[in-house]
Amino acid sequence: MTTRPLIYAANWKMNHGPEAAREFIERFIALTAPAAGRSLWFFPPAVSLAPVSHAARTRADILTGAQNVHWEPKGAYTGEVSIPMVQQAGAKTALVGHSERRHLFGETDDQVARKTAALLKAGLVPLVCVGETLAEREGGRTEHVIVRQLEPLLDKVPAAEWARLVIAYEPVWAIGTGRNATPDDAAQVHELIRFAVGRCGVPGRIPILYGGSVNAGNVLGLLARPELDGVLVGGASLDADGWAELVGLG
Ligand code: PEP
Repeated sequence: MTTRPLIYAANWKMNHGPEAAREFIERFIALTAPAAGRSLWFFPPAVSLAPVSHAARTRADILTGAQNVHWEPKGAYTGEVSIPMVQQAGAKTALVGHSERRHLFGETDDQVARKTAALLKAGLVPLVCVGETLAEREGGRTEHVIVRQLEPLLDKVPAAEWARLVIAYEPVWAIGTGRNATPDDAAQVHELIRFAVGRCGVPGRIPILYGGSVNAGNVLGLLARPELDGVLVGGASLDADGWAELVGLG
């Protein structure tokens, strides 16, 4: 369908412990073969990262990542996971600023920027999530919110390093609600993000994924838009057979 590289990212949230995660990835690997220009990223819970990375070690098209990291490499931060720890568990990427982290756990734009800078320094790819709430969209504040979320990042991450960063546009009102943004809605905000970072001197075209109630029925319509470089998926990535089918559609 498309010749540009595409990323299919699976965010398992608080699902699939170590045993279930290993079984999932073994089945998924049996159901899929590497495809040119397609990368498959998995974000299991922290305790399942090592078994998933190990089971996927023979598949260069599969990358594993953490759902969250702390910006400090070690210390008295009960309950947190450091970047060196997730690297030891095989992570090559990490989600930063997922809306559930921002809205349920109070993660700030500044913390998102600190985590992003620390990941880049360690050589991991940050997948930074941005997105507006329904009230913000309906109040005409989408652009304002996205730019506000990007500003500390633009401050802390030198323009040249943005080449190693991926953004996910995830409107909060579309996550886990069954109500996805239309391809036009998504494309419009992707363009807005590219314009905002380009204006601040970031060179080139940064990859941007769309996330929010993506499923097998709407993924092709979304990926038909060249502004999208892939999808970040929660609910529809939780079943190995269904996820294998979805990533095979494009
Ligand atoms: C997500 O968790 O990033 C997400 C987009 O979830 P869902 O696909 O379930 O809306």
